[in-house]
Amino acid sequence: METYGCQMNVSDGELMAGILAAEGYELVGRPEDADVVLVNTCAIREHAEQRVLGRVAQLNGLKTGRPGLVLGVTGCMAQRMGETLLRDAPYVDLVMGPDSYRSLPESLERLGAQAGDRGTDGDSRRARRARGDRRGQLTVLDLHPAENYAGLEQRRADGPTAWVPIQRGCDHRCTFCIVPYVRGPEKNRAAGEILSEVEGLAGRGVSEVTLLGQTVNSYHWEGVSFASLLRSVARVPGIRRVRFTSPHPSDVTPELVEAMAEEPAVCEHLHLPAQSGNDRTLRRMLRRYTVDDFMGKVEMVREAIPGVALSTDIIVAFPGESDAEFRDTLELMRAVRFDEAYTYKYSRRDGTPAARLPSTDFVPAAEAQARLEELIEVARGIQAEINQSEVGRSEEVLIERPGRREGQVVGKTRRNKVVAFDGCASRVGEYALVGLERTTGATFAGTETSSAATAVRA
Ligand code: SAM
Repeated sequence: METYGCQMNVSDGELMAGILAAEGYELVGRPEDADVVLVNTCAIREHAEQRVLGRVAQLNGLKTGRPGLVLGVTGCMAQRMGETLLRDAPYVDLVMGPDSYRSLPESLERLGAQAGDRGTDGDSRRARRARGDRRGQLTVLDLHPAENYAGLEQRRADGPTAWVPIQRGCDHRCTFCIVPYVRGPEKNRAAGEILSEVEGLAGRGVSEVTLLGQTVNSYHWEGVSFASLLRSVARVPGIRRVRFTSPHPSDVTPELVEAMAEEPAVCEHLHLPAQSGNDRTLRRMLRRYTVDDFMGKVEMVREAIPGVALSTDIIVAFPGESDAEFRDTLELMRAVRFDEAYTYKYSRRDGTPAARLPSTDFVPAAEAQARLEELIEVARGIQAEINQSEVGRSEEVLIERPGRREGQVVGKTRRNKVVAFDGCASRVGEYALVGLERTTGATFAGTETSSAATAVRA
């Protein structure tokens, strides 16, 4: 299984792995060793789709001499392209959208794949493969308004952190965004089921969870608001850090900010996608807030949570965006001073309202690129200044993985900053106090302050 795109896709990959594991399938490390190859895809920008199409064509090479190999494309791009994908990549056997994963084992079986070597079937996978049976192609693209994958278990890689999906789909209609069309309407998971899952994760040694949803803070379930779910998750014994992504600014309420400020386990970091710093563009994006509203949310969060780190998403060159309107976005960046910004050039997505705007509105490619580069320069400059001002601090770091260099480990602070320092790989999962000594601009290098490390270790 190869996954492209956002954290929700990573989590969907874990869901599919869980569904298939229950049927006897095993994950292998290399596509060359697999009987089924699934490419789990993203549709948010054209560039992401082009990369996937290239990769799928490459994977087709594995079919030479292995006619039984099943090649599937799942996720948002599969849902968006549907039959077109089979036309453009006729060697793909399965096209499956994000609401159909429950039927994955059955679909693979229909295509001739079989989990494991269950042996007794006279017409086993190997026999079929040896015969080179062509099993046709299959598209499974129904959107199910109630599918929240209740009762299914994720298969996660071992580690101290875990993604926990609490919501699928989206009820917003941002005019640039394909998500509502490929993931359907918002579907929340039962609060009790989420809490049991987090308790189970804590029991297995996970100490940091990130709650996931397209507009995660619009979550609600039978009277349970997102803020109250967040409080309950933060109080699960063994859970030391809670994060959530991506919230919508309109649903950043006083109740949520209070929960963030009061629950010690909720990390001092908020991702707050602004998308633009200009009111006319925000209105045409159908973001449902103004620049003033957005600044009000920033102020509320900073007042309640001193030192909170803020990150954002920005789109430049939305159709019709003038140079002056783009400059308003730069102004917003300078006014807020985000710790991190994910920056994108508008990508036209057929089926979305913005794609139907008059062609004269589309910003020429060179101009869009110039705006993106200018924005990146401003965003990186601010990030470097903020991080430079944090050198000298001592921060609690959760060690997440070995570093690139032998004898180095990498982890994150509560404020979501990446820190590398000397340490043994066996310490993944531990907490350490680390003095921040240098920054590259985006990440830090530091040294563990040994006396404090013992004090904070779980
Ligand atoms: N829930 C988030 C929100 O509040 O909008 C959206 C998550 S989306 C998967 C990640 C980011 O991709 C968006 O915030 C947006 O900045 C960017 N994005 C979405 N559609 C885009 C498009 N058509 N062109 C460029 N960037 C896009």
